[in-house]
Amino acid sequence: MDGLMMDFPLTLPTLLRRVETYFGEKEVVTRLPDRSFHRYTYSEMARRAKQLALALRELGLERGDRVATLCWNHYQHLEAYFGIPCGGFVLHTLNLRLHPNDIGYIAAHAGDRALIVDASLAPLVQQFLDQTEIEHVFVVEDSYEELLASADPAGWIAPDLEENEAAAMCYTSGTTGMPKGVVYSHRSTILHTLGVAAATPMGVGVSEQDTILPVVPMFHANAWGYPYVAAMLGANQVFPGPHLDPESLLEDFVQQGVTWTAGVPTIWLGILQLLDAQPGRWDLSRMKGMLVGGSAAPRAMIAGFKERHNLVVCHGWGMTETSPVASFPALPGELSNADDETKFDYMAMQGLPLALVELRARDDSGNEIPRDGETMGELEVRGPWVASAYYETPDSSDRWTDDGWFKTGDIVSFDPKGHIQIKDRSKDVIKSGGEWISSVELENALMAHPAVAEAAVIAIPDDKWQERPLAAVLLKDGASASAEELRDFLAPQFAKWWLPDRIEFVTEIPKTAVGKFRKTALREQFAPRPAVPTP
Ligand code: AMP
Repeated sequence: MDGLMMDFPLTLPTLLRRVETYFGEKEVVTRLPDRSFHRYTYSEMARRAKQLALALRELGLERGDRVATLCWNHYQHLEAYFGIPCGGFVLHTLNLRLHPNDIGYIAAHAGDRALIVDASLAPLVQQFLDQTEIEHVFVVEDSYEELLASADPAGWIAPDLEENEAAAMCYTSGTTGMPKGVVYSHRSTILHTLGVAAATPMGVGVSEQDTILPVVPMFHANAWGYPYVAAMLGANQVFPGPHLDPESLLEDFVQQGVTWTAGVPTIWLGILQLLDAQPGRWDLSRMKGMLVGGSAAPRAMIAGFKERHNLVVCHGWGMTETSPVASFPALPGELSNADDETKFDYMAMQGLPLALVELRARDDSGNEIPRDGETMGELEVRGPWVASAYYETPDSSDRWTDDGWFKTGDIVSFDPKGHIQIKDRSKDVIKSGGEWISSVELENALMAHPAVAEAAVIAIPDDKWQERPLAAVLLKDGASASAEELRDFLAPQFAKWWLPDRIEFVTEIPKTAVGKFRKTALREQFAPRPAVPTP
């Protein structure tokens, strides 16, 4: 017997209708490049998002066409978050931290037809545009305004979208090989929004009464879904624009009455340092919770915020492939009166899966690991907002198990209640300040230098960036090259922050039985502690 409920599609136009119908007066505040604040309401946001959708249609773009953004976090980006998918197009957020060649590759691979770009980033576009099929470029606060003005929002009729149509895509560099495209559907986006909104990490959650500031970029993993979560709940939202230094963020928190925020550990380590240096300067009594993820949040940082500033850090885990939020920390109810040290232990773990997400971990022999807090295995995940394939990358099926779970490349243990703790990473990539660096690409580039016989790149721990690359280099017999020379050789090929801070010349690079670099041995030699910190 079938249920007799409506087959109502889960699509973003429903969210847009909700926010303008019920929360039209609530505010979206943006810190502009000149540091002043721009404010408008969700009503205006919705009107402009519809204009964007209509104008893209009038340009001749068709259902399913990709429209890229290359933008910081701001109100125009929010308009793109709604306008592009609500118009039936696919929002493709490009990562502005990448080297122009990589951005070009990604935009070409995705088949982007149009691009919305910040004025400050427009020069970057000239470096990759000719690699792509992009026909239209709109500059924020310039030709983007003309585009919007060309459309009359009175003509808006939401297209009849199906829930499994693509809404957005985002490429990840957190894999070996070329960046890979994750394609979110309307359905997965709506369910992720509900899942994040329903969660109460460490007993705190968000509602219409909150003011949410996502520091995490809208160009990397959807700002953890907060632009949609805030709109669905009717919470005010604040965007920091390009001003991500601790002083500006603290000013935003205080001046805009921020109650909930989210970002990678590098951001919070900087903020903690400033709060410690000038205690009492900022009144953060309204802040209910600060979500930290993307890399492991150090336990000492979590404890420092609570003990010295009475601020609660919530430590989440997720991936571009999981929309991205998959787990939040949770304190078992019976421990609600436990001492702070016990609470910090739980806050430093990556917690429990959100409702509808399932996790398991298996050892090298394929057996599920016991929940003993010690045995380690590779974390696998499945759920309605987890990717089932990469966009047009047929040879990547080994990232999924035969029974349909996604293999994360994260090595974890489970405590007896199933709370995950990330211990290590099996994928050969480095995460610095929340963004990926490919060890393999650096190695290949180094080995193209005439003096280099072999090069292996590993992550070493860093107090500010969590991880930085270190290159172990074996020179050819009789050849010579300095670290500076090798860095200069790499410089034109990579973004500046990819260049290894340390280049160590070695007499041998240890290898496995099958001749691969044995990076664990190099890590033991050069890293005083693991780069992926165990809390
Ligand atoms: P991305 O796709 O760029 O969001 O990166 C996802 C990866 O970042 C995960 O597979 C982990 O390796 C890492 N990561 C994310 N959150 C955490 C966390 N809370 N602790 C440790 N590693 C994390």
